[in-house]
Amino acid sequence: MEDQGLYTISFKGLSSGSHFYEWTIDGSFFALYKTSEISDAGIRVQLTLLKRSLFFELNFMLSGWAEVSCDRCLDPLKLEMESDAQMFVKFGDHEGEDESEDNDVIILPYVQDRLDVAQYLYEYAHLSLPIRRVHTDDANGQATCNAEMLIKLNEFLVNSN
Ligand SMILES: [Zn+2]
Repeated sequence: MEDQGLYTISFKGLSSGSHFYEWTIDGSFFALYKTSEISDAGIRVQLTLLKRSLFFELNFMLSGWAEVSCDRCLDPLKLEMESDAQMFVKFGDHEGEDESEDNDVIILPYVQDRLDVAQYLYEYAHLSLPIRRVHTDDANGQATCNAEMLIKLNEFLVNSN
């Protein structure tokens, strides 16, 4: 709760209505997470926070690119990113997530006056990645995967059988 991080939103004294936040997250952001599948990135995050009487509505827009490793040749693969996510913040006696709602609802204790959204940015970026991540064919129909690496991987598979 004492977190004063770069991605912390303070609710203290926030007026009703909408508030706008913007960040750019890059490779150094994802490097902080050991389990990150994103090795490099240039993602613009735009957050519109709507303060209602009893809750906050947070609308995130992510756009830019993320680099992951190719499923086939393991070389870096740069992917375009364009996604959005919505989250509601309510206040209650117990901290947690509201399981009864379809949307993402988090419940913060009444005394909490700020929220670090870094973890959510990390999750939203990963959720927006496609399930299959491979280099696409170029204009001539040639696969752009690292051919040498594919040969090595094949040898490895043959030798390990
Ligand atoms: Zn590849």
